[in-house]
Amino acid sequence: MPTDIMNSLQQITEQNLADIEQAKTEGRSIIGFYCLYSPTEIAVAGGAIPLPLCGTRNDPIAAAEEVLPRNLCPLIKSSYGFAVSDACAFFRASDIIIGDTTCDGKKKMFELLSRQKTTHVLQLPQNQNTEMSLTLWHAELERFKDLIEKETGRTIDDESLRAAIRLMNRERHARKALMDVNKATPILLRGSQLLEILFKIGFLVDKEKGISFMEAVTAEACSGRFRQNIPGHGCGKRLLLTGVPVGLGSDKVIKIVEQCGAEVVAFENCSGYKQAFVVDEEKAPMQSLAEQYLATPCSVMSPNTGRFDLLKEMIRDFKAEGVIDLTWQACHTYNVEAYQVDEMIQETFGLPTLHLETDYSESDTEQLRVRIEAYLEML
Ligand code: SF4
Ligand code: SF4
Repeated sequence: MPTDIMNSLQQITEQNLADIEQAKTEGRSIIGFYCLYSPTEIAVAGGAIPLPLCGTRNDPIAAAEEVLPRNLCPLIKSSYGFAVSDACAFFRASDIIIGDTTCDGKKKMFELLSRQKTTHVLQLPQNQNTEMSLTLWHAELERFKDLIEKETGRTIDDESLRAAIRLMNRERHARKALMDVNKATPILLRGSQLLEILFKIGFLVDKEKGISFMEAVTAEACSGRFRQNIPGHGCGKRLLLTGVPVGLGSDKVIKIVEQCGAEVVAFENCSGYKQAFVVDEEKAPMQSLAEQYLATPCSVMSPNTGRFDLLKEMIRDFKAEGVIDLTWQACHTYNVEAYQVDEMIQETFGLPTLHLETDYSESDTEQLRVRIEAYLEML
């Protein structure tokens, strides 16, 4: 990636810390989010600032293990460790924490996290297909709206919700357009660079700045400017990454794939395409939000048919030649679902998948490299 783009991203992220301070001085509330199921639009409609808080680094895990069991998902331990060790500026800035009853480890962690900060947990249904699930989720979002209204002292009406939906849809359009540049063959942007941009943009207070930046990078990528700097000019084997979310600090698999001469062309996870949905702007806003967010195709849902549909679409559109299914250690839902994912991909595309189970440490890097090299040779 040319240095001017990375310098500009660096400047934006540094300025963002100042923007957060400024927003707090002006009395704006900051709402910390831990999961893709919670609609950030409700916070935005109340004039608050949503910040993503999921931990993606290994460093704070030792602090978490003083309280949490060691054999727990690293994402949960990292998130908790950041909070208790006061190592995350975004957690520190948050006035309220929003969690969801997604997996068992996370929801029990939120009970402990509530000792650090006011924590509100949305009761997420485990099934997306019944009227009862949608009714419950809609009611939970109403409760969430009441909470934000109390916190911000502002009334959230249909008009403010519609404006927030339009803004967040524009952000998701920009994210999707950026991710879609790699439908091209050879690719136009390396997976590691795409991940860095998507990850850093997610923390921006000023959504317009993030949208403009992503639109500018998309235009530059489409001009072919970045391709010349990709080793092999982006012609390496095209892999799709599915499974658990990844971010800076938990991106070792992507780095190894690239070191092996292959490319991660797309991310079918919460860090990537699962954020590429659009909320219906015509329907009643709370109903629209409840329907769209409940449809998030995460393995905590049973069944989780949306993930299989999304995978089929992405494997075709991104012309993937292989699929890596990543599971964080002790994540039972993604671990169990890996069998069905492999079965579906073999039956539909005749492709074997590579299921990797790991954590945030570097201790198994060489083992992972051997498995990834062997997989690439097989494709
Ligand atoms: S993987 Fe599932 S539980 Fe984890 S952040 Fe994404 S939607 Fe939430
Ligand atoms: S990766 Fe799995 S175990 Fe970890 S927080 Fe997400 S759903 Fe829970």
